[in-house]
Amino acid sequence: MNKVLVVEDEQHLAEGLRFNLEDEGYQVQVVETGEAALDVLRAQPSGFDLVILDVMLPGKDGFSVMSELRGEGQFVPTLMLTARGHPEDVLKGFAAGADDYLTKPFELAILIARLRGLLRRREWLRASLDASTRAPAAPAETPPADEFQFGDKTVNFDRLELHVRGQVFPLTLMEANVLRYLIQHEGTPVSRKKMLEEVWGLHEDTDTRAIDNFMVRLRRYVEDDPSHPRHLLTVRGVGYRFIAEPRAT
Ligand code: CA
Repeated sequence: MNKVLVVEDEQHLAEGLRFNLEDEGYQVQVVETGEAALDVLRAQPSGFDLVILDVMLPGKDGFSVMSELRGEGQFVPTLMLTARGHPEDVLKGFAAGADDYLTKPFELAILIARLRGLLRRREWLRASLDASTRAPAAPAETPPADEFQFGDKTVNFDRLELHVRGQVFPLTLMEANVLRYLIQHEGTPVSRKKMLEEVWGLHEDTDTRAIDNFMVRLRRYVEDDPSHPRHLLTVRGVGYRFIAEPRAT
C-alpha cells in the first residue's frame, strides 16, 4: 500500500484529502506544520512513497521544507500545492526541488492522476534500477539508455541521475528537464523567459530570478568549481548557455 504524507494546515482540506486518498487505497498521515513534516520524514527516511506539501504553512513554509529535504538527500516524490495567482510560486517550488505542483483549489481527480503519475515514474525508476543490478539482460531487451555525456559526467535522463566520476547525484524531474533543454540547445544562449515557457510551461510574467537560484543548484552538481562554471554559463542580459566540451584553459 502506498503511503502518503499530507502536509496541510487547513483542517477541512487535510481531512478531505485523507478521506479521499484512503478511499483510493492509499495509507495517509497528516501533519499540519513544516516542522512536523521534517520531523516525520527525518525519522522515517523511506517511510513514504509520496508527499503532498502545501506552500502556505504556519512557521516553516513548503519551500523551506522542500529545500531542506532535498539538501539532506531525500528525494521522496513531492507534489506542491500552490496558491492561485502566484505563478512565481510554481517556479520557487521547482527550484526548491518539487516534482510537480497543483494550484489550489484543485479537482480531486486531477490530484489523484498527478499522484499516480509520480508513483508510476518512481516504480519505473525502481524497476530499471533493479534490472541494472541484476545480470545484464539480452541486448535486444535493453533499450538504449537516454543519456548524455559531457566531460567526465553523464546525465541519465531515465534514472534522473548525474554521474560524476563514480559519484551519483539524483536529479529532480525538473532539474533533469532543465538540463535536457539546455543540452538540446548546446552552444546557443537560451533566455530565461524561453526556459520558463518551454520547461516550466509558465507564460505569465513570472519573476525570472527564481531560475537563477535553480541554476545555482544545478551548478553544484554539474560544475567542478561552481563559482567558475564551464558548462552552465551565464549569458549576461539573456540567460544561460550550455557548453558540453569547454576549451581547455
Ligand atoms: Ca495552508
